[in-house]
Amino acid sequence: MTAFVVGLTGGIGSGKSAAAELFAELGAAVVDTDAIAHELTAAQGAAMPAIRAAFGAAAVAADGSLDRAAMRKLVFADAAARHRLEAILHPLIRAGSADRCAAAPTPYAVLAVPLLVEAGGDYRRRVARVAVVDCREETQVARVMARSGLTRAQVWEIMATQASRAARRAAADDIIDNDGELAGLRPQVEDLHRRYLGLAALSYQS
Ligand code: ADP
Repeated sequence: MTAFVVGLTGGIGSGKSAAAELFAELGAAVVDTDAIAHELTAAQGAAMPAIRAAFGAAAVAADGSLDRAAMRKLVFADAAARHRLEAILHPLIRAGSADRCAAAPTPYAVLAVPLLVEAGGDYRRRVARVAVVDCREETQVARVMARSGLTRAQVWEIMATQASRAARRAAADDIIDNDGELAGLRPQVEDLHRRYLGLAALSYQS
């Protein structure tokens, strides 16, 4: 049972997934709230009956999974619909991620939460430490444009809905600098991995 949980966060395109992969390579259990959200809304996903009941068949694709494009359009135009969707998904994501962290067979677990800072105390209370993957906003924009084909304006629009770089840095116990080359990430993650193993060992003694 893993009691020591490190929250891993960062803005879109900061390199959270890249950092999470390195933690996993070093042997940490990585629990990803985005992946859980995806599972919940896949065909036969645990959230789908409630989503169908709340939003009707128009929200459900032919295969029974969430029609992501339709839902994106709906929640973009309608804040109440977004809250309804969140009210369905968030408790399931919280419960699912807590279960997986608790069941992790490793000394510590990394809980990857893209919007950890935005969620306020909710996730902060559940993690022993917050690690933020950080880079300049211009770097985020360039990476997301290269990955997604979104325009510069669209990426800035998404970033405007997320916490500011300053707010994220202020919430961090540990900052992973990912403004440089990808190769620069590994030694930082290795350092943190060693530190988290040490902290986890201490937390078991107390
Ligand atoms: P996030 O999960 O925070 O959105 P990703 O880890 O998916 O970010 O990284 C965003 C994109 O940028 C990916 O295509 C990834 O391969 C690339 N990337 C991440 N870190 C670097 C880096 N240091 N240098 C160059 N490209 C990077």
